[in-house]
Amino acid sequence: MPQKAPALFLGHGSPMNAIEDTPSSRGWREVAGAFAKPRAIVSVSAHWITEGVRVTAMKSPRTIHDFGGFPPELFAVEYPAPGDPALAADIVARLSAFGAEPDHRWGLDHGTWSVLAHLYPQADIPVLQVSLDARRAPEEHYAIGQELAPLRDDNVLIVGSGDIVHNLRAFFSRGGADNSEAEVAFDDDIVAAIEAGDHQAVLDYRNYPHAANAAPDWDHFFPLFYTLAARDNNERAHVFNRHFFPGISMTCIAFGVNP
Ligand code: ZN
Repeated sequence: MPQKAPALFLGHGSPMNAIEDTPSSRGWREVAGAFAKPRAIVSVSAHWITEGVRVTAMKSPRTIHDFGGFPPELFAVEYPAPGDPALAADIVARLSAFGAEPDHRWGLDHGTWSVLAHLYPQADIPVLQVSLDARRAPEEHYAIGQELAPLRDDNVLIVGSGDIVHNLRAFFSRGGADNSEAEVAFDDDIVAAIEAGDHQAVLDYRNYPHAANAAPDWDHFFPLFYTLAARDNNERAHVFNRHFFPGISMTCIAFGVNP
């Protein structure tokens, strides 16, 4: 029996975390030490939104610098992890009911490489991305995640990369200011629902009192659904990196680790 890989939700925050030693990047490094090395990584990033489900299928995915206004050293980062075309074909088949298709144009966006640069700085584990299909409701994203879940039994790490609290308007208008209590309260509510195993409450996150302020951007919230869908029954949530910035929470959730 191969090792069973965890499922992670990684709050990624600013791309600068990729090249900085921050409490958050240290948390990512630590969690990688809490489980055996996976044989491959499937990442669902907030930064790859498509019409239809796409799966990166190239042998050598490029490093995409999908941001502006950051220093040259961030644009110089390369994360040359290999792809895994055979695993991509397997995933496309698993997701055939959702019309999934292989993709040969994307690569690894910063939602993926800014965190993996800390978990696996060697970039020696194959990495694939599965896109967020913009047309779908939370329950459908969760259903796609359920089809990916069995990959964990084959030591494939499932990563959702986004931010539970993600409000860029707040981020830019309150830079340096105190965190909004409402944002922390929303993050608390989501963590409590996850710890209680109430995935439906997370899917219905818009019902929480502060959702409109804390999570106006669905693209950063929805990767969480893939992580939750990959959770085994009663698997305990390891919650870490509860770092807050105005408009951003770095909160991370891990299932199947031994911290
Ligand atoms: Zn992001």
